[in-house]
Amino acid sequence: MQNFTDILYNLKVDCIGSGPERHERPHKPLMLLAALEMIDLGVADCAAIPWNQELLSLFTERFEVVKQRNDSDTPENPFFYLRSEGFWNPVLQASAAPLSDRPRRKDLGNVTALLSKAIQQHINTANKRAEVRELLISRYFPEHRQALLALASLPTPLPSAAQAHKPARGAAFKRKIAELYDDCCAACGMRIKIPKLNVSFIDAAHLIPFADEFNDHPSNGIALCKHHHWIMDRGLISPGPDLTWHVSHAFDARRSPAESELLALQGKDLLLPKDEAFYPSQRALEYRFEKLVAYHV
Ligand SMILES: [Zn+2]
Repeated sequence: MQNFTDILYNLKVDCIGSGPERHERPHKPLMLLAALEMIDLGVADCAAIPWNQELLSLFTERFEVVKQRNDSDTPENPFFYLRSEGFWNPVLQASAAPLSDRPRRKDLGNVTALLSKAIQQHINTANKRAEVRELLISRYFPEHRQALLALASLPTPLPSAAQAHKPARGAAFKRKIAELYDDCCAACGMRIKIPKLNVSFIDAAHLIPFADEFNDHPSNGIALCKHHHWIMDRGLISPGPDLTWHVSHAFDARRSPAESELLALQGKDLLLPKDEAFYPSQRALEYRFEKLVAYHV
């Protein structure tokens, strides 16, 4: 099985809306949050999540927190379509026959989702479930962290420093960002990808540091080559809220061709993902822009 963190960070979800309102549909990660809660409450075990009124209520409660324009409260969609993730198998309870379509309200109590053995080992204790809940919130709903945690019956501690720097989490974020930016540096466009060796030259840079807000949403990241990542982390270049690059006046073109090249980045557009749903957020860009080293140092 593919790394579980990677699976959670790469759920196959559609995007909806246009312009700044465009966003990923929240249903699949919300259904997983509701399922974790069912287990925590003792009304489901980690092998099977029943399609019942309790699940629907837990889903709706969370949906009300995160919904955006154009979203509708349709738990039947993720309950059925989560099957494409490989660990969630909706079946008829009586015969264990796979469902052929989304369950309806009249099917309440007659349908269940069987969870694969591979996922069960990641959710079979309260601590592990808290960690999965934390990953889902960091990746999909960081802006709603407090409200979603308040709905959980068991406490979810904030990630420890060790969890924040867990290689699996960092690697999952990096793979998502690299995919969205097609392995191109958002500053210079450099792209080196060797699929057979699983080598990409691209780093996923957080705009607001993960340790500050536990935010792994792709709109808090940007793909950069090692060179531009290093320079941005020192506040010498920054993407701006205007989606162009800004360069510190600490550089002097007369000193070296490298500095001259960096200065030429001033005013150039960011090289962005195809889908606007994943553009860097204005708030994250403003945060980073404020870190740009003062013009005269
Ligand atoms: Zn670059």
